[in-house]
Amino acid sequence: MNNIKYWLSLAIMIIVLAACTDDDDPNTDVSVISIGTGESNDFDKYLEKIYTEPYNISFQYKLADIESDMNYQLVPATYENSVKMANLVKYLCLDAYEEVAPEGFLKVYFPKMMMMVGSGAYRNNGTVVLGTAEGGLKITLYDINNLDISNVERLYEYYFRTIFHEFSHILHQTKDYTTDFDKISSTEYVGGSWNDAWDGKSSLEAGFISDYSSKETNEDFVELIAHYITNTEESWAAKIEPAGDSGKAILEQKITIVKSYMKEVWSIDMDDLRAAIQTRAEKLDEQDFDSITIE
Ligand SMILES: [Zn+2]
Repeated sequence: MNNIKYWLSLAIMIIVLAACTDDDDPNTDVSVISIGTGESNDFDKYLEKIYTEPYNISFQYKLADIESDMNYQLVPATYENSVKMANLVKYLCLDAYEEVAPEGFLKVYFPKMMMMVGSGAYRNNGTVVLGTAEGGLKITLYDINNLDISNVERLYEYYFRTIFHEFSHILHQTKDYTTDFDKISSTEYVGGSWNDAWDGKSSLEAGFISDYSSKETNEDFVELIAHYITNTEESWAAKIEPAGDSGKAILEQKITIVKSYMKEVWSIDMDDLRAAIQTRAEKLDEQDFDSITIE
């Protein structure tokens, strides 16, 4: 059973990342917010207040057929968990960026639609998709009905790294980073075979923070951001320790470029952003994620 779980979770991770698409330029001018025909409840009004008015983000939880992927049998997110997730994404993501990013940054660049799905999207082969993004506009998060706020590692793995990863694609698609980054691992990228290229070998030792990072430079770049800000200083050091001296040197060289890019282009200090997220993560159990009160 443990073996099955292991392979299943491996398949899950692989598919989460494989489902990521970044071929299209983000077009933040396009409104993807549709006029709903259903009745607006208190939660809808709350979402309007905390997502739509300040950020022009449409937070979808009702699984409208038109917005969900019809290739899968999907279960809607429960109302209770949708409320929790709305508050959680605001707390651990939007509010963290607000602490360190310039005024107006999120409203312009953050993906315009977030969609909650209760189940994973099960495929015929038994694997399951946990997160997808389309052209920087819309992020779909799956498995919301298994939300466990007490497990921050699971929150990062299932939801937040997907969000940070996709958001970071929008940034580099808007203003590209230096080609110096591309040169560091230029001969090591494996493209579409990232999935099995590291069988028996360590992508970390080759200077990649995840197997998926080895696909190509843009994935490498955004994976570094997503992993860096979802680790404390200590857990990051522990994470890259198995990379060995040469792997660590490569990772540090890349992170230096990522940090100066974020600082110079977006006026965001990555260490400040990480600190904002980590400080919030430590106080998760003190928060009320069930409230939809509008002050
Ligand atoms: Zn990606």
